[in-house]
Parts: sequence; structure tokens; C-alpha cells
Amino acid sequence: MTIADPIEAGLRGGWNVIDASRAERDLALDADVVIAGSGAGGGTAAEILARAGLRVVLLEEGPLRSSRDFRMQEREAYPDLYQESASRKTADKAINILQGRCVGGGTTVNWTSSFRTPPATLSFWEREYGLREFSTEAMTPWFERMEARLSIAPWTVAPNANNAVLARGASNLGMVTTAIRRNVKGCWNLGYCGMGCPTNAKQSMLVTTIPSALDRGAMLVTREGHVYTRHSISFHAPDSELHGVLSRQREIEDLERQVAAGQLRELVLWIHQVDFVGLRATHVGGLCVGVCHEWDVVRRAENDAHAGEIDAGVPVLI
Ligand SMILES: Cc1cc2nc3c(=O)[nH]c(=O)nc-3n(C[C@H](O)[C@H](O)[C@H](O)COP(=O)(O)OP(=O)(O)OC[C@H]3O[C@@H](n4cnc5c(N)ncnc54)[C@H](O)[C@@H]3O)c2cc1C
Repeated sequence: MTIADPIEAGLRGGWNVIDASRAERDLALDADVVIAGSGAGGGTAAEILARAGLRVVLLEEGPLRSSRDFRMQEREAYPDLYQESASRKTADKAINILQGRCVGGGTTVNWTSSFRTPPATLSFWEREYGLREFSTEAMTPWFERMEARLSIAPWTVAPNANNAVLARGASNLGMVTTAIRRNVKGCWNLGYCGMGCPTNAKQSMLVTTIPSALDRGAMLVTREGHVYTRHSISFHAPDSELHGVLSRQREIEDLERQVAAGQLRELVLWIHQVDFVGLRATHVGGLCVGVCHEWDVVRRAENDAHAGEIDAGVPVLI
């Protein structure tokens, strides 16, 4: 069966994509908006701003890959699609922090659990950090909009062994569980979401907002950053005060903070500033720190009992 590859089709159709690692000289680009990072935040912003008619440049540290590259192999996917080959850790090395490093960022490799930021978390942010514009009321239309954009819907297939254990355990403790909604269209339930979706069922930024922004003339610069290229990229915006040069690590970090993306990198800053246990307890944003940790515990416990079933099916459902 042939799986349509929107990336290949877009590149053939003339998308404006530059692989900065292959640049042989410094690049000077015109832009109204420069977005550093092409994950959930960057991809969404790129589509909205390109639709509004702005000249968008989307910078991404990692490579552009597509379904044909996603072969469900950890040894290929981790070094290619993840920060630090999926071995980034908290300072005490106790917890693995998984973060994407590819076009689509975390959304290319995430597990598709799609739930709204809980009202209790939004209230906590408002109370503790004064983020009044992120109230439940203000966020509801945005949640609705992105749920429609990313085809977020209930998942009715039975959970895999991992998730069934969670459901049973919770039920034994008298807790009510529910299946988490997912951003998929025609999912094959392979269970290899973390290695990039080989069927393009996952409605990541890679197959939704980024193609849409590129169709509208946005430019994508991949493998940008000190790891890959020795050349600088400068920006010029004739109609505004925006201009800048990316050439060394420090300048890139500054731009990232000002413009977009990199939630888990920012988490590292948060961890330094707030109590880590408090952070986990409140499930800040869509972070997977707590989830990954618990999943690993269940996985180890069940490994012998359900050898062969453990990695099949949706990784996080209950
Ligand atoms: C394995 C895994 C499973 C997950 N599962 C779920 C899930 O099921 N449900 C859920 O809600 N969330 C999940 N998440 C988390 C979710 O994907 C992230 O919360 C979300 O993608 C964060 O969006 P973001 O835009 O802040 O950053 P990211 O999506 O992390 O994107 C940041 C991008 O910026 C790039 N970048 C960083 N620095 C620079 C720079 N200086 N210049 C250029 N580019 C740069 C990175 O390479 C990356 O591609 C998961 C994450 C992972 C890694």
C-alpha cells in the first residue's frame, strides 16, 4: 500500500526549504517574522502568521524528515529526531527528558495524547505567575480551534497491556479512568508514535500547519545552529525593527526565548526557578515528564508478563 507523503509532494511543488548545514556561505533572509523552533508552538504560529500574509521564516535546529524516513527503529529515530539522541536528563540524571529535534519538534515524535490544559493548572498559572490571559474562558476558543485543526477525537480501540494495567490499578483504587483523546486520522494502532508516524496518521505539525505555512510562501530553514553549520543567518525586515544575526549559540538562545518554541528547554529554566515536585504535581503544560516516568515503571513491572504486547498499540491512552 502506498502512503501519500505530503513532504515529498511539497518539496516537489517548490516549497522554500533550505538545509543550513549545506550552506556554503552566510545567508541573508528577508522576513516579517522569524520563528525559532518548528514544534507545537512554532508550527502553529507559522501557519497563523503565513495565513495573515506575513513573510515567515521558520528556523529549526533538526532535520526535515517524512513518513518514508520513519522506520520504527529506535536506533535510527533517537539520534535523528531527538535532542541529545533521546538521552537528555534532569541535572541529577534521575529522569529522562524527551524532546524532539526535527521539523515538527515534539509533535513529530509524541504519543498523540491530546487534552486541554486542565482548569486547575490554568488557575495555578494565573495565581502563581499572573498569567491572566490564559484563563479557561480565554483559552476555550483556542482549544476548540486547535482540536478541529488537528482532528482531535475520542479513541475507541481497546488499550494495550500497559494502559490496561493502569486502568485496572486505578479501578482497584476506586479511581475513575477515561481514554485520552488523540490527534490522529486513520491510525493503524502500530504503537511506534515515538519514532515518527510511518503512515502520516498522526496530525503533527509536520503534516498539518507546517505544510500549510509552506504552501503560503513561508520559508523553512532546517539544521540551523551551531551543531550543523559554520555560517551565519541574518534577517532583515524592511517594514519593522526586526533584524538579527544567528551565528553563535548565545545569540540563538536569545532569539529562541524572544520569539517561540522549545517548551522543554524552557522547562529546564523553570526547574531551576521553582520546586520540581510542585511542578510535576501541577502538570504544567503538556509536559510528559510525569507520564514518561510512570509509564516506565509500569513497563518494567509488566515486561515479563506480557512480552511482545508491551510496545504494541497507543503508548499512552488511559
Ligand atoms: C516522546 C514524546 C512524547 C510526548 N507525548 C505527548 C503526548 O502524548 N501528549 C502531549 O500533549 N504532549 C506530548 N509530548 C510533549 C509535546 O510534544 C510537547 O509539549 C510540545 O511539542 C512542545 O511544543 P513546543 O513548541 O514548546 O516545543 P517542541 O515541540 O519541543 O519544539 C521545539 C523545536 O525547537 C527546536 N529548537 C530548539 N532550539 C532551537 C534553536 N535555537 N533554533 C532552532 N530550533 C530550535 C527543536 O529542535 C524543536 O524541534 C511528548 C513529547 C515527547 C518528546
